[in-house]
Amino acid sequence: MNTLRKVEILGQSAKWDSCASSSSNRKVSTNDRIGNAAGCGICHSFTEDGQCISLWKTLYSNACSFDCKYCANAAGCNKNKARFEPEEFAKVFMSLYVRNYVEGLFISSAVEKDPDNTTENMIEAVNIIRNKYKFQGYIHFKVLPGTSYDMIKHASEFSDRMSINLEAPNKSRLAEISSVKDFKIDILRRQAWLKRMKIPSGQTTQLVVGSSDETDMEILSMVDWEYKNFKLKRGYYSAFSPVPKTPLENKNKVPLKRENFLFRCDWLLRKYKFKLNELVFDDRDNLPLNQDPKVSIALKNRDLYPLDINEATYEDLIKVPGIGLQSAYRITQMQKSKEKLTKQRQLKSIGVVLKRALPFIKFNGTVQLSLNPLIRQSGVI
Ligand code: SF4
Repeated sequence: MNTLRKVEILGQSAKWDSCASSSSNRKVSTNDRIGNAAGCGICHSFTEDGQCISLWKTLYSNACSFDCKYCANAAGCNKNKARFEPEEFAKVFMSLYVRNYVEGLFISSAVEKDPDNTTENMIEAVNIIRNKYKFQGYIHFKVLPGTSYDMIKHASEFSDRMSINLEAPNKSRLAEISSVKDFKIDILRRQAWLKRMKIPSGQTTQLVVGSSDETDMEILSMVDWEYKNFKLKRGYYSAFSPVPKTPLENKNKVPLKRENFLFRCDWLLRKYKFKLNELVFDDRDNLPLNQDPKVSIALKNRDLYPLDINEATYEDLIKVPGIGLQSAYRITQMQKSKEKLTKQRQLKSIGVVLKRALPFIKFNGTVQLSLNPLIRQSGVI
């Protein structure tokens, strides 16, 4: 198999991993157009300082000996196997880099013979990239479940960020989709090691949403626990979609809205410092999909609203739907300088999303918009 074909197959095989996210879901319907980078595995990610960079996101190999039931690369499911050699991998990356197609690398892999054997080859590839070709830029290295401490430590010397996928939120849910991986030993223990290693951009993780019958509460509880205990930088959520010829080929596709709402709640936990028990779940412990999560929380606490925008604290302002961290900061700066907010257009000019915020705020002593339509829309409050 020639290298170009490997690049195509292994770039496609990596598309299930969203730890490095692409900037657009736009579909390109034909192959005869330029600019379709997704097919050969180029995606975008954000560095610690918020800079957007393009990455070559690829598997090193897609021939897996493990049996995750949802996975196109699992043993017995993959008829289109491919793998790089270390030098070949490094040369492809460098040729993409010197042509300015990518600025960094996201390397993952299926587990070939065993996790250490595959990781050794991956390390060899990044070692060549770092030491032979002198690449100084961003490398995200995916840790395979069950990889030994020494191998992970060695990989960390070349990596800016590392991640190991949880895939499911707990031991029993993982057992529903994999007979090989042990949740505590193969994954959590490795995450605990990563926490202690000096990895410049820390560690992330990913879950496949809906491949087992887990609830949103189980998912968010686990990730929230990891934020507190493993210094996790970010959780990623990938909606399950059935792959033909896998054991779960007849299972229903998970709506993208569920994935999207998990991302939003993750953001609320991580950036807005909401507590897990402030989030709103339905009676089956899932997020209600008929209402934005931040609006659901505000409606549950509707006795606190409307909030006087000229007197509210930063902590209260960031909990108002339509008011972000920056807008809340600007409002409190205006409060400090005794500058009164009296008009909706002032709020708009500092970034408040009026349509979302107005039912929850007042100024000049006046409620801006009734909450009743939102309460009616919300069937679970
Ligand atoms: S470990 Fe599981 S998810 Fe990863 S490539 Fe193998 S079968 Fe797929």
